[in-house]
Amino acid sequence: MKRIGILGGTFDPPHIGHLIIAEEVRLALDLAEVWFIPSYTPPHKDNAKTGPEQRLKMVRLATKSNPYFKVDTIEIERSGKSYTIDTIEELKRRHPDNEFYFIIGADMVEYLPRWYRIEELTELVTFVGVKRSNYQLESRYSILIVDIPLIEVSSTLLRERCMNGVSVHYWLPAPVYQYMKEHRLYEH
Ligand code: ATP
Repeated sequence: MKRIGILGGTFDPPHIGHLIIAEEVRLALDLAEVWFIPSYTPPHKDNAKTGPEQRLKMVRLATKSNPYFKVDTIEIERSGKSYTIDTIEELKRRHPDNEFYFIIGADMVEYLPRWYRIEELTELVTFVGVKRSNYQLESRYSILIVDIPLIEVSSTLLRERCMNGVSVHYWLPAPVYQYMKEHRLYEH
């Protein structure tokens, strides 16, 4: 059995919060790898501001310096609404010997009751919750909590700063920062 962490997200854009939680959970649970899975269309949000190909590119740039991080394009290739249950069922078919640990911030922990086919999903993965300001980590579902420092950053905050012409330097990995500047992402 290989223990694999999964970090699903919109990654619009990917930031240091995503990377730190992935690495800290990997270390705490001795995971072999963490797979980053950018969504095509997140079911719980208005459409992403940036298209899937550009978000995928940024996730690749964000993760490339860490040999334990992989990027899986399963949701982008499937297109349509990216329901986690569909993704996990397919990953289980492809990798029957893996044990999956699905990493979520406390905002998503609170949202879990509304996830599509959540009861089945809890049978297929172990959810791993990490802190996020203004959200609770308690849940009616059984969740593994990994205690890591609070990282007060979100993609929304970074998009807003860009829109207001405020620098986001150091809040994202340098190659992502460069890419965003080159492509003038989120500037208006
Ligand atoms: P947005 O602000 O656009 O909603 P986000 O910053 O929450 O985006 P997502 O790509 O939606 O980023 O997040 C993917 C996963 O990473 C979610 O489970 C989310 O809770 C978690 N996450 C993102 N940022 C943090 C953070 N700073 N601390 C802990 N968890 C985080």
